[in-house]
Amino acid sequence: MSAFDEVLNSSLHELDARGLRRRLRVIEQINGTRITIDGREFQNFSSNDYLGLASHPALAEAMAEAGGRYGVGSTASRLICGTTAEHANLEEELAEAKGTEASLVFSTGVAAATGAIPALVGKEDVIILDKLAHACLIEGARSSDATIRVFPHNDLAKLESHLQWAQEKNQGHKGARVMIITESVFSMDGDLAPLREIIELKERYGAILFLDEAHAVGVRGYGAQGLAGELGLSDRVEIQMGTLGKALGVSGGYIAGSRTLIDFLINRARSFIFSTAPSPAVAAAARAALRIVQSEEGSRLRDKLHQNLTLLAAGLNLAAAPESSIVPVILGSEERALAEAAQLLEAGFFVPAIRYPTVSRNTSRLRITVSAAHEPEQIRDLSSTLKG
Ligand SMILES: *Cc1c(COP(=O)(O)O)cnc(C)c1O
Repeated sequence: MSAFDEVLNSSLHELDARGLRRRLRVIEQINGTRITIDGREFQNFSSNDYLGLASHPALAEAMAEAGGRYGVGSTASRLICGTTAEHANLEEELAEAKGTEASLVFSTGVAAATGAIPALVGKEDVIILDKLAHACLIEGARSSDATIRVFPHNDLAKLESHLQWAQEKNQGHKGARVMIITESVFSMDGDLAPLREIIELKERYGAILFLDEAHAVGVRGYGAQGLAGELGLSDRVEIQMGTLGKALGVSGGYIAGSRTLIDFLINRARSFIFSTAPSPAVAAAARAALRIVQSEEGSRLRDKLHQNLTLLAAGLNLAAAPESSIVPVILGSEERALAEAAQLLEAGFFVPAIRYPTVSRNTSRLRITVSAAHEPEQIRDLSSTLKG
């Protein structure tokens, strides 16, 4: 082992000792919500494919067709020759689905956040961030040079006091911006942001809102609306962000908002400008996913998802049906979460243990995700195994 590798290796040993080491698991086969790992089949309760669209034949067909027509690779960045009619149509259809003037598609949701945030705020500005915001939102905020203030998860009083502070700080700085960044459905807790109240505060203090709808799209509201659309608040959110890789079953990220916002990002978001465009085949698959979520089939899938969630809530004796497809079972220590996950795996269920740094210390948990593609039988089996 080289001296360099030895240093890295000692860090890995340290992670091992703290129960924090991660390893890749290779999925050998996928059959809906059943996955094969090391030759053994498991019921999958870990994916973000909330509507089962990732294996929908219409998406695979759209992908193959566009791959045949435009080629597999996009061959260049969006601003050079990487924007095909599939990309342009996707952006138009996505904007329509979100109730905004325009949208812009990035290769991933991470790229959307890390590109858009620093393009929109800078040194003079203030970002106010929910404590549980996704890593890419934190990353985007940090790389922006703005002053960052964090409020405890969903704590409106603390959010307001940061807004007051920012207002005072900005006095005399004409044009200094205050941007609130939060999620609508939180990725590791599955709970909702008090969106209406946040928007009211934002408007009272003249701030702008960057809302990450990654886990809400396809789950909350009609079609791809998300929570902002569900609550009829879409036109009061300046920047709606999301991913095409979760309920939409494909991959990619987006920002939706005004035409001016999108034109600005085309010129300023570095992760957009300097990156090879997503494959036209991926854009075509995302268009197919959008068509499905906005169809009767999409409504049926959402109903099925909510039935499955209700069933799981009953099985686990939860007080109410979960507000999203994410159902955390908080266990505390890393060891305990790992042991529970290992037991479930032994019983044939793939449910990940989520540990620090994805969640804060001593809140390690099982993160169960439910899909419309699960059969009631699978949900019942999981509940009884968890209780047993
Ligand atoms: C998954 C996720 C992202 C990133 O989206 P990708 O398309 O996977 O890069 C952003 N925000 C939240 C809250 C997420 O859960």
